[in-house]
Amino acid sequence: MTAHKYAVKKIGIIERYQEFLPVTDRTPIISLNEGNTPLILAEALPLELKLNNIRIYYKFEGLNPTGSFKDRGMTMAISKALEDHSKAVMCASTGNTSASAAAYASRCGLKCFVLIPEGKIAKGKLIQAYRYGAKVIMVKGNFDQALELVKGMTQDGQITLVNSINPFRIEGQKTGAFEVVDDLGDAPHYHAIPVGNAGNITAYWKGYQEYKRAGRSEVLPKMLGFQAAGAAPIVLGRPVEKPETIATAIRIGNPASWKGALSARDESGGLIDSVTDDEISWAYRFIAEREGVFAEPASAAAVAGVRKLAKKGFFLENTRIVITLTGSGLKDPDYALSFDDKIHTIEPTLDAVKRAVAGK
Ligand SMILES: *Cc1c(COP(=O)(O)O)cnc(C)c1O
Repeated sequence: MTAHKYAVKKIGIIERYQEFLPVTDRTPIISLNEGNTPLILAEALPLELKLNNIRIYYKFEGLNPTGSFKDRGMTMAISKALEDHSKAVMCASTGNTSASAAAYASRCGLKCFVLIPEGKIAKGKLIQAYRYGAKVIMVKGNFDQALELVKGMTQDGQITLVNSINPFRIEGQKTGAFEVVDDLGDAPHYHAIPVGNAGNITAYWKGYQEYKRAGRSEVLPKMLGFQAAGAAPIVLGRPVEKPETIATAIRIGNPASWKGALSARDESGGLIDSVTDDEISWAYRFIAEREGVFAEPASAAAVAGVRKLAKKGFFLENTRIVITLTGSGLKDPDYALSFDDKIHTIEPTLDAVKRAVAGK
């Protein structure tokens, strides 16, 4: 291919937002051109929810290099691990962290170990960890137990922990908020986001505050976090021992960034609420079938949350809502195919096609 005359050099979040990130000229930048994801105007959802004069946007993070927002944090975590002469990284993961860690580690020759709760990871995420060459270790336990094991393994500093308790992850992920402001010209009035380990709500709130302090925005959004009803420790005010939800990416009973989530909620005047698996499922299908945006179930939790609040008349008129759609719908093919959609197999004749089209 010849280079296009007007081609713009694609850059990742570290180069784009260097002045807001803890990097120096000596930091090796390991990037896959993450970030710069689209902010898509919702068309069907505000009509469905009868939200007049309210604009809703989807920040579609499923279009990152490994299909989730985790890449924003991972470019930072891996770059800093390399700067610190680490030889290996390790994480516990419901899936997307391991996919992202494996990809960025492979790019710079770091060993990558991922601890995954047995049987509770979406297939798309698992195959990524394998294909990017990570050592995949299944744990007969849940995410919270896997994270405790990773903490134990990384304590002596030989292996770098790249879960979101690694502060560089939060630093990278705050750039999601920067991009929203850059695209809208200001922050939204509300920002809705799913909450699992609570790193991302913490990161967005940090990003919005830093950008405002730097004079890039005038508004600060109310942060609206949503947990799955079966995995809602922050809503309940206590850890959940056996978290359960179809939204595996937020199937977490004892969030590492619990305090960060509370600060985001309270400082912004927002809230953290829960949504049921049925509500998540409705939202998951709605955004794909009516908006053309295919996100994974955990992402749909934030859409379900906005719907729940809209029904109560929560949102003020003439406001903007941004919803982070955290990951791609392609991550979880088993869930996607669980709605007994009819597959019509027909004879290769025009008549048979006509019958199928007519629904007979
Ligand atoms: C990691 C993840 C979440 C949860 O984010 P936290 O920072 O753990 O709260 C939500 N959705 C998807 C798709 C994820 O990968």
